[in-house]
Amino acid sequence: MATETVTDVICPLCGSLCDDIEVIVEAGRITNVKKACPLGKSKIMGHGRIRAPMVREGGELREVSYDVAIERSAEILSDAKRPLLYGWSSLICEAQRKGVELAEEIGALIDNTASVCHGPTVIGVQGKGSPGCTLGEVKNRADLVVFWGCNPAEAHPRHRARYSHAAKGFFRPGGKKDRKVYVVDVRETKTAKVADEFIRVEPGYDYMVFSALRTILAGHEDVVPDTVGGVEKSKLIEMVDAMKSCEFGIIFGGMGLTHSRGRYKNLENVISLVDELNAHTKFTLMPMRGHYNVTGSGHTFAWLTGYPFAVDFSRGYAWYNPGETAANDVLLRGEVDAMMAIAADPGAHFPGESLRHMAKIPLIQIDPYPNPTTELADVVIPSAISGVEVAGTAYRMDGVPIRTRKIVDTDYLSDEEILERILTRVRELRR
Ligand code: SF4
Repeated sequence: MATETVTDVICPLCGSLCDDIEVIVEAGRITNVKKACPLGKSKIMGHGRIRAPMVREGGELREVSYDVAIERSAEILSDAKRPLLYGWSSLICEAQRKGVELAEEIGALIDNTASVCHGPTVIGVQGKGSPGCTLGEVKNRADLVVFWGCNPAEAHPRHRARYSHAAKGFFRPGGKKDRKVYVVDVRETKTAKVADEFIRVEPGYDYMVFSALRTILAGHEDVVPDTVGGVEKSKLIEMVDAMKSCEFGIIFGGMGLTHSRGRYKNLENVISLVDELNAHTKFTLMPMRGHYNVTGSGHTFAWLTGYPFAVDFSRGYAWYNPGETAANDVLLRGEVDAMMAIAADPGAHFPGESLRHMAKIPLIQIDPYPNPTTELADVVIPSAISGVEVAGTAYRMDGVPIRTRKIVDTDYLSDEEILERILTRVRELRR
């Protein structure tokens, strides 16, 4: 049996977008994956696929052909007055572009998973700017790394080894020995256990801690109380000293900031802190983006519509106002009369009230894998796995574009082909 080792494969799971994976292929099938973390390995090896397109009839999903499922999807979307197209973070930019075309054609609201993830970071950046850098700069230059409200040891398992904590870089040949690592979080995570310093913040007090750091940095430590958000003032002074005296610092921000009290205000405050630190040294900020191409979905939406997520075409032009036009805004208000979920699992991750509305309206799912969304869907269309069975462009968490590769052939249609066929049929139905 012919065995082939494919090198430099891109892992299509998390925002680290590791590009050094090795995949063993025997007789057209992937039999092993090397160098990837367990999360990446399980995605590349594939697991429990949706076998065939399905349409719900009499309460049961029944297997049908691609033609039938695509026809039913086109009917649902062309009949809808307020359709929502949601997901877009675990597929390639070429499919995201096709999705925007479909949204414009039917006057839909198109939203990616940023609206339940780093949307507040995007809003913070829109308000205050983006003092960012690439992961290569972190690897080669950073001597101070702060993981704030994120836990890469579990969510981005190879991030610390490849880019941030232990990575050996040009100016940091000693890797871990050449860096000081802080973790600021509400609990002692796995990442905190291996950091040099763990600072525990009371839940919901990040904004105040950033304000205290900024106040100390500005030379007004006399007005800072003895503890802020559960953190001793002496610890905050120590942290400011470390930040001011480093050569290149970075704060990686996570869900602990975007999902807690303050949301985008937390981000505005930390961006201001980073700006102010740049009067003393070089300092940057990077969001720990989750899905491998959520950054790409923001870029694709923005270059086509002007806005990175929560884009509403119902007025005939692109309109953006998160709080009004994000997926959960329109679901919670019961506004949507049809929904397509693509490369995402809102059935598992949306609040109960949104799910109750999703259960009442026609729901189309496009995904390689069955998940809780499948249980609610009226039409289920299986797709090829981007980055394994389809090549295309993805953007790493730092905005660096990387071309994902096709490793094996498949009979499944790609997301782009499915969307193209739905769009063609929608146009015919609407003529
Ligand atoms: S760290 Fe992320 S990108 Fe890298 S192998 Fe693991 S899941 Fe894949």
